[in-house]
Amino acid sequence: MFDFFKSRRRARLRAQPIPDEWRRTIERNVPIVRRLPSSDRQELFGHVNVFLAEKHFEGAGGLELTDEIRVTVAAQACLLLLHRETDYYPLLTSIIVYPSTYVVSDERPVGGGVWEEGDEPHLGHTQQNLSALVLAWDSTLHGARAVDDGENLVFHEFAHQLDFESGGADGTPPLESSRQYASWARVLGAELEALRRASEAGSPSVLDEYGAENPAEFFAVATEAFFERPVELRNRHGALYAELRAFYRQDPAAW
Ligand SMILES: [Zn+2]
Repeated sequence: MFDFFKSRRRARLRAQPIPDEWRRTIERNVPIVRRLPSSDRQELFGHVNVFLAEKHFEGAGGLELTDEIRVTVAAQACLLLLHRETDYYPLLTSIIVYPSTYVVSDERPVGGGVWEEGDEPHLGHTQQNLSALVLAWDSTLHGARAVDDGENLVFHEFAHQLDFESGGADGTPPLESSRQYASWARVLGAELEALRRASEAGSPSVLDEYGAENPAEFFAVATEAFFERPVELRNRHGALYAELRAFYRQDPAAW
């Protein structure tokens, strides 16, 4: 019953036009949206309505939240949802936004059973079972406006959320079939190894070397490249591009 009401409410929200002010914000701050076919743009705007109705935003570190911030985050997050059945990041409740890089007190192992305490600067963060996602607003905006640099903080963090939906932080979002799982594991596993080798050798890659860290970071970094450097990714990592195209059901290289 609950689901029935939820999907009816979402359908109603999706059918509503977004306010002109939001549309102008998206055009100004999220220029990748201008590249979309117009039917995709309409679908995206509908998702933005649902996303903003359902997610709770919170300003931190003195940041005063505005519609500009909410809409700029939502438009980027929702681009990852097009053409699929989606439950709108069901594990995520709140988005916490800092004005800029924020510092997290951290303890990390430095070997030999010794832990080091330190203050780590962060641009963004999310993790499984946290139901929150944290973003630095300046990096969010810069990532959105610089469309072709292959770096996008919001795509990165929301790709982690998609990854969590399949029950782990293992770089595999929910896929359609066992065949798709098999080819995903084969292709992304090989590409991760290739990125590790490239990063050790100091050779440049379309993919940020941070992706060599582990499969979860690899998927997040590959998502950034897929939307922001699609032609290079398709040309140099054709099999990876094909896996991402099948999952996202979008073909940014053709935009
Ligand atoms: Zn990450």
